[in-house]
Amino acid sequence: MTADIQPTYPLTKAQADEIASLHEADTSELEGQLRQLSETCQSSCASGISKCATHQNEMRKLYENAYTTASPDRWTSYRPAEYTQDLKRMFDAQATIDKIHGRVRREKMQHIKDSQCTFGLSDHPTVKKTKIRAAELRGTETSPSDIDSYVIEEEQKLLLTLTPEQQEVQAEYDKSKSEAEKYSYLRTCACISKPTDTPRDVELRLKWMKLFDNKVPYNEILPVMEKDIADAKSNVLLLENRLADLRNAQAANNKAKAAKEESKRKQARDAIRRCCSEGCGNVCELNGPNADLGCERCFATKEDGVLQNYSWFCSPECAKANAGSHNARFHST
Ligand SMILES: [Zn+2]
Ligand SMILES: [Zn+2]
Ligand SMILES: [Zn+2]
Repeated sequence: MTADIQPTYPLTKAQADEIASLHEADTSELEGQLRQLSETCQSSCASGISKCATHQNEMRKLYENAYTTASPDRWTSYRPAEYTQDLKRMFDAQATIDKIHGRVRREKMQHIKDSQCTFGLSDHPTVKKTKIRAAELRGTETSPSDIDSYVIEEEQKLLLTLTPEQQEVQAEYDKSKSEAEKYSYLRTCACISKPTDTPRDVELRLKWMKLFDNKVPYNEILPVMEKDIADAKSNVLLLENRLADLRNAQAANNKAKAAKEESKRKQARDAIRRCCSEGCGNVCELNGPNADLGCERCFATKEDGVLQNYSWFCSPECAKANAGSHNARFHST
């Protein structure tokens, strides 16, 4: 048995099917051999196989061969090496065949549990929940077939919630037959850039790609990716908060600026006064030596003695208070 054929759980559908068919083939081969042995004993020995020491011994050898040969085309090769070693030890120690069968059954249950309950690499939270529940149910009164139905039902429900694209991706993954295929699929999922990628996402994908290129096992890459994603998310949150603060500050700043501009505009408006001389209405500046005393043209005309009804503001205060309405005829000083 080589390490690289050991599958990582959970298996893809294709892998699970392959292992199931191997198990079926192993079992039917063993059953054929057992049947043949029993027939041989029946035809040549008088006692019947249960009491025939010779053929009991041969039967044990058939089981030993079936249970401890871990060539790649056998179910056993898909379980950890300790399992085969365990069985070899039991056969060597002359453990009863019932005890040995018990150990084999336990391993089969463990295989099903590993296959059904191990967290997947990109498991949806619902899938994780289902797997936790399925693991809890194993070893309780619930029958294995009920657990299977529960898992299948939840899978179907979840599939319905996936977008067509997500379903396609899932189907592609399920088709992976080998660990290498599975790994390369996962690499693609993790490292191929998406149109929505931020520059940070691009950096992270490059980082993960290096891990894949170095053949780091996926179950070691996964926590790294999960941490990176969580960190990136909290960074984004931090940046978003900072941005919101900046926007608020900017808004406050704009508001203050606008108020200042408005007050400037108001001052400017206030600074314009119209000459109150009847029929004139020219702008008179409030600054300068003759400020507030009407427009220069009217003032000059008055000085020339031409303008009889010239009216001027009596003071800058008066000009401010009576802008536009000042007229000597209505203003008595
Ligand atoms: Zn016999
Ligand atoms: Zn004037
Ligand atoms: Zn006045």
